[in-house]
Amino acid sequence: MKTNDFQTELSNLQIAIDSAKSIAIASHLSPDGDNLGSINAMYGMLTNLEKDTTFILNDEVPQSFKFLPFIDEFKSPDEIKEKSFDLFIALDCGDMNRLGDQVKKIFLSSKNTVNIDHHNTNDFFADINIVDVEATATCEVLFDVFKNLKLYLDKKIATSLYTGISTDTGSFKYDSVRPKTFEIAAELLKFKINFNEINTCIYQTRSKEKTDLLVRSLNSIKYFNDDKIALVKVTIDDLKKTGAKKMDSDGIVEFVRDIEGVEVAVLLKEKENAVRLSMRSKSFINCSKVASKFNGGGHIRAAGGTFHHNDLDKAEKDVISALMEEFDQ
Ligand code: 5GP
Ligand code: MN
Repeated sequence: MKTNDFQTELSNLQIAIDSAKSIAIASHLSPDGDNLGSINAMYGMLTNLEKDTTFILNDEVPQSFKFLPFIDEFKSPDEIKEKSFDLFIALDCGDMNRLGDQVKKIFLSSKNTVNIDHHNTNDFFADINIVDVEATATCEVLFDVFKNLKLYLDKKIATSLYTGISTDTGSFKYDSVRPKTFEIAAELLKFKINFNEINTCIYQTRSKEKTDLLVRSLNSIKYFNDDKIALVKVTIDDLKKTGAKKMDSDGIVEFVRDIEGVEVAVLLKEKENAVRLSMRSKSFINCSKVASKFNGGGHIRAAGGTFHHNDLDKAEKDVISALMEEFDQ
């Protein structure tokens, strides 16, 4: 736990849930497995508790997560009629701005707010903050929360939690994995979750368009610092030419990181008025520290940020020079 006492915040959460009539849950922009998994798990738990729960999602759901049990229940921010919820629970979201402008307004107008997360850059933006930076995934934190509040899991909730832990650990490969991660995974498997379906959906359903985008972006690869840094780009034109969706660039940066000898992989994604940065490291580079220089954050081995201009060459120069400083230390 970062600062706030876990037990105190848990009892605060219990009171907040018990007394709330309407609850909204949301996560950050560009949903990944951990935030969709954690929202699904929380949605399942709150509906089991017969709470009037609204699942808010900014973006489209990636095809690989459509198997999640409550994924069809989500509402886009435009569909939300309520001006204010009794309780707003943000999951897997390091800061309020990551909710996106529309959802941030709903968060700010809610009577009580909760932040459950595992990012070490989390800035404790809610009334109740349950942040465990040792946890591999928000889904791991949620498992603890449910267990401590004596809330019973079911197969759907277990499926959702397993998804978040599997994706945020790169299938149990990252340094963040601890004995407890496997203990939790073992508990979740006892609910007879469909292990084969989950893995096939998440890891073995890449579309042809997404594959074409991967191939195209790999053609842009550049190496720096004796091949310890590898950088690739995805342009708006690449998306047009391949017919891929913007979320189809997920997974490219991990592919580049996996090259022998590469310590850190960088992906620069061109947007209309910005460049999005994604970084992944293998052993020692602190991606979160570098990303924080570019309006972002995240974890030691996986982080992201934003350049508020769309000059890819300038972004490349700036991120490479920030990374070179890290290597020199
Ligand atoms: P990705 O590269 O997949 O976008 O993000 C990798 C990790 O860094 C994720 O855990 C994500 O939540 C975090 N991250 C990505 N972009 C940002 C950002 O702009 N701000 C913060 N605080 N975290 C980010
Ligand atoms: Mn996460």
